[in-house]
Amino acid sequence: MNATRSPEHDHAEADARLAAALRERGQRVTSQRLVIGRLLRELDRHVTAEEVLRRASEQLPGVSLPTVYATLDLLAELGEARRVSVGGPVLYDPRTEDHAHLRCRSCGAVFDVDVPFDTAVALRAAREAGFAPEAAEVVVEGLCADCAAAARG
Ligand SMILES: [Zn+2]
Ligand SMILES: [Zn+2]
Repeated sequence: MNATRSPEHDHAEADARLAAALRERGQRVTSQRLVIGRLLRELDRHVTAEEVLRRASEQLPGVSLPTVYATLDLLAELGEARRVSVGGPVLYDPRTEDHAHLRCRSCGAVFDVDVPFDTAVALRAAREAGFAPEAAEVVVEGLCADCAAAARG
C-alpha cells in the first residue's frame, strides 16, 4: 500500500474497481454491494456473513442476512473476495491471492499462512477424475499458539 495516499482515496479506487467488475458481469452497481464490499475490506480479516450483517445494518437499514450472503458470494464470484470453508461457518476473506489457512480446533480461530503451493495441480487432478472443481483450499488443523500454551498448562 502506498503511504502517500489517503485511505479515502484507496476506498474510492477499490469502489471503482468493484463497480467495474460488476458492470463487466452485467450486474447492477448498487450502494448495497459497494457498502458490503467496503466493509469486507475495512474488516480486513476472515469474517462470517453474520459479522458483516452487524456492521452493515448501520449503513444499510433493513438489510437481511440472505442478502448479505448473496452479496458476499457475488463478490467471491467476481474475484473480490474468497469464500473459505474450513469447517464451521463459511468465512469470507478479503485476501484473494492463493494462501493457506490454519484453523484452531479448540477456539475456532482462522489464520492466514503464506506457503508456496499450487492449487492448479489439485484442480487438474480433480478434473481428470471427472470432477468439476470450483476451488481448492489448503487448511492446516491443530491448536493455535494460545490454545497450545493453555493445553500445556
Ligand atoms: Zn485456539
Ligand atoms: Zn485467508
